[in-house]
Amino acid sequence: MKSAAIREAFIRYFEGKGHTHVASSSLVPGNDPTLLFTNAGMVQFKDAFLGREKRNYVRAVSSQRCVRAGGKHNDLENVGYTARHHTFFEMLGNFSFGDYFKRDAITFAWEFLTSPEWMAIPAEKLWVTVYADDDEAYQIWHQEVGVPAERMVRIGDNKGEKYASDNFWSMGDTGPCGPCTEIFYDHGEDVFGGPPGSPDEDGDRYIEIWNNVFMQFNRDADGTMTALPAPSVDTGMGLERISAVMQHVHSNYEIDLFQNLITATAKILNVSDLEHTSLRVIADHIRSCAFLVSDGVMPSNEGRGYVLRRIIRRAARHGNKLGADVAFFHKLVAPLALEMGETYPELVTRQAQIEKVLLQEEEQFAKTLEQGMKILEQSLEGLNTQQIPGEIVFRLYDTYGFPVDLTADIAREKDLSLDLDGFETAMEAQRTRARSASNFKVELSDELALEGETVFNGYTELAEDVTVTAILRDGE
Ligand code: ATP
Ligand code: MG
Ligand code: MG
Ligand code: MG
Repeated sequence: MKSAAIREAFIRYFEGKGHTHVASSSLVPGNDPTLLFTNAGMVQFKDAFLGREKRNYVRAVSSQRCVRAGGKHNDLENVGYTARHHTFFEMLGNFSFGDYFKRDAITFAWEFLTSPEWMAIPAEKLWVTVYADDDEAYQIWHQEVGVPAERMVRIGDNKGEKYASDNFWSMGDTGPCGPCTEIFYDHGEDVFGGPPGSPDEDGDRYIEIWNNVFMQFNRDADGTMTALPAPSVDTGMGLERISAVMQHVHSNYEIDLFQNLITATAKILNVSDLEHTSLRVIADHIRSCAFLVSDGVMPSNEGRGYVLRRIIRRAARHGNKLGADVAFFHKLVAPLALEMGETYPELVTRQAQIEKVLLQEEEQFAKTLEQGMKILEQSLEGLNTQQIPGEIVFRLYDTYGFPVDLTADIAREKDLSLDLDGFETAMEAQRTRARSASNFKVELSDELALEGETVFNGYTELAEDVTVTAILRDGE
């Protein structure tokens, strides 16, 4: 079953259950300046959930384009390392605005996944988690649906618990919140990983495919929870993950859509090893970059534009690793439009514009990428620690336009880490110099560059990479 057919089946199934099909909204959230990118299907419905906005339907279904790079949900660091994370993905979701609740949500999900008319997934491959004390959800799954206790796990809210799982969702520190129930697919014992809630849950054997959130409470500023008068449902299922299940492959990168993109990339770069991780990373990155540009984001040194710039440069670096010596990334917009243009016609109508933006960024970075890589290689040769010195990280950043997370990506491939303290010290010194130098109108990057080097024209805004180092530290 092709991913396009799965997307359509999902929408058809929920339309049959009285849901209104709502188109995907932009990756740039229209109603929430605090959110970097649309990262879930519920984002465009936030005000409907909060009761601030009345819609002429109480049930909705959508296939929402999402980006999880930067911000609260950041999966950029996972790309190339797990079978299931992308920077861009599509989230299939059904929503109830004060209409149906746990029983219907659970039985809809189960019917769609297991009914022979729909996905026909063997029930014994599916595992279910519920929130630790959500007995109601447990009983529905166990007694009404018939999921055996040995494939059900109760998961807490990750406060003081050992593992990463968290089955309590909230919109923010205050506001609607409630327990989740998640459905996992067991990809079999050939793959490393333990069931949800176990020490090896971060492996890729048991993959979470669908999350159902039951908005049940309102939390106020002092933490008091009161029951919502009309509880709601918000769900999300990754299209690429359910496609992997339906296409009997383990990794999302093996599904039809990604295989076509990977093949196209390999052809453009003249690479024969179709399994190469860099091909996967590039295939992932072209989707987020093309859709971000299509939704109006432009590469820049701050905010959303800086996330876009970082992703493009990471893609360029992976291309460089595969031997690319000319700009290639923009050439992938065409195969992407071929693959996804039917669902997202704007990819076709804006193709030329997207190509132009990507090409320009690629060309700008190409001027310094090669030299920056040389500097890095040289410094690695003499290295007697497991850390890349902060001055090198800073020099790459400031003179060669290597965002810190890009250098971290290279470091990780070599089992090295970055001296982030050293980087921040160098950055601070730069700021001090900038303050005094600006009095004399000296070009900073000229001042720092060595003779004969091509000079990256410097970031005007240094603050963003401090945020990035914070994210990198978070993962330490
Ligand atoms: P995981 O635990 O695997 O990181 P999650 O719990 O962060 O997933 P949710 O926030 O619950 O994911 O999002 C709902 C669904 O969206 C997930 O069940 C999954 O199918 C899909 N999904 C989430 N993040 C990604 C991603 N980075 N790439 C592809 N699909 C994703
Ligand atoms: Mg996640
Ligand atoms: Mg999860
Ligand atoms: Mg989840």
